[in-house]
Amino acid sequence: MVFRALVTDRNASGEIVSSVRSVEDAELPAGNVLVAVEWAGFNYKDGLALTGKGNIVRAYPHVAGVDFAGRVIESRNYRYHTGQAVILTGWRVGETRWGGFAERARVDAEWLVPLPRRLSSRTAMMLGTAGLTAMLAINRLKEDGVTPNRGDILVTGASGGVGSLAVMLLARLGYRVVAVTGRPEQSEHLARLGASEIIDRRELLEPSGKGLDGERWAAAIDPVGGPLLTEVLKKIRYGGAVASIGLAGGAKFDGSVLPFILRNVTLFGIDSVMQPYEARVAAWERMASLFVPAAYEPMVSEARLEDLPAEAESILAGGVAGRVIVNPK
Ligand code: NDP
Repeated sequence: MVFRALVTDRNASGEIVSSVRSVEDAELPAGNVLVAVEWAGFNYKDGLALTGKGNIVRAYPHVAGVDFAGRVIESRNYRYHTGQAVILTGWRVGETRWGGFAERARVDAEWLVPLPRRLSSRTAMMLGTAGLTAMLAINRLKEDGVTPNRGDILVTGASGGVGSLAVMLLARLGYRVVAVTGRPEQSEHLARLGASEIIDRRELLEPSGKGLDGERWAAAIDPVGGPLLTEVLKKIRYGGAVASIGLAGGAKFDGSVLPFILRNVTLFGIDSVMQPYEARVAAWERMASLFVPAAYEPMVSEARLEDLPAEAESILAGGVAGRVIVNPK
C-alpha cells in the first residue's frame, strides 16, 4: 500500500529538508502493529526533528512526529486487534524511529496505549505528549503533598502546549493557577482555561540578585527552564516543589542551593518518553475525565503535513500558542 508521509532528509548541500511524498508499507520500519494515523500532535521536539536541531534524529530519510492517534490496521500482538483505537507518545518515536507525520506508522505494541473511551483520536491529540507530561507533573506534585489548599501553583510557558494544558488540568482539579507568559495577548485565553492570575514573563526574568526572594507559590510546573527556573525556585514557599519539564527558555540554569536547604523545596524532573505502560494508561484515563475539549478548542489549530516545516520554525521561536494538531490525509 502507498501512502502520504512528510519525509525529512539531507539534501545535496547537507541541509535538512522535509517534503511530502508517497511511501510504501515496505519502507516502514519493523514493528508488530501497523496503525492508520488519524491525527498527529505537533510538539517542540518535532520542531527540532524537522529543522535538524538538537541532534535528536540520527538517520535519514526520517519521518518525524512524536505522537499520534489512529486505528490498528494489522497487529501481531495479543493486546491489539484490527480496528482498535490507539495512542502513541514517546519511546523516541519520531526521533530515532519513524513517527506520526504520515498516514501510516508501524510500531511496537509496547509503545501504544488504548484510546480512552471518552476521547476521539482528535481530542487525544489536542492533549498528546504535552497533556500527558502536564498530567504526570501534576500527579508527581500531588504525591509530594501539593494539594489545592497548599496555595497557588505557577505554570511557566503558559501559552505553549504543555503550559496551557497544565493550566486547564490544574484548574479542573481545583488548584488556583498563576500563569506566566511572554505573550500578554494570550491572557484572555489563559483566563478561560482557568488561570486566576497572569504574570508577564519579563517581570519574573528580572534577576533579583539574591539567593532567596519572598515566598509566593506552593509549587510550579516549568516547561521553560533556563534563567526563568532560577528565578522561580527562589520564590517557592517553604516545603514546596517545582516540576521541571522542558527547556524552551534554555537547558542551563544557575542557582543557589538555598531554596533546597533553607526552604525544603524539591525539584522534580518529569519525563514522559520512557514512562511505563501502567503509568501512561492511568494518566490518559485521568486526562480523559478532566479534559474539556470544547473549552480548549480556541487553543487548537489544524495543520496539514505540508504546513509542518513552517510550524517547526515557529514553535522553536516560541511562536506557537496552544496545540497544533496534524491531519495527515
Ligand atoms: P511550546 O513551544 O508549545 O511551549 C513553550 C512555551 O514556552 C512557549 O509557548 C512560550 O510560552 C514559552 N517560551 C518559549 N521561548 C521562551 C523563552 N526563550 N523564554 C521563556 N519562555 C519561553 O512547547 P511544548 O509545550 O511542546 O514544550 C515545552 C518544553 O517542554 C520543550 O522544551 C519540550 O521539549 C519540553 N517537553 C518535555 C517533555 C518531557 O517528557 N519532559 C514532554 C513534552 C515537552 P509563553 O509565550 O506563554 O511565555
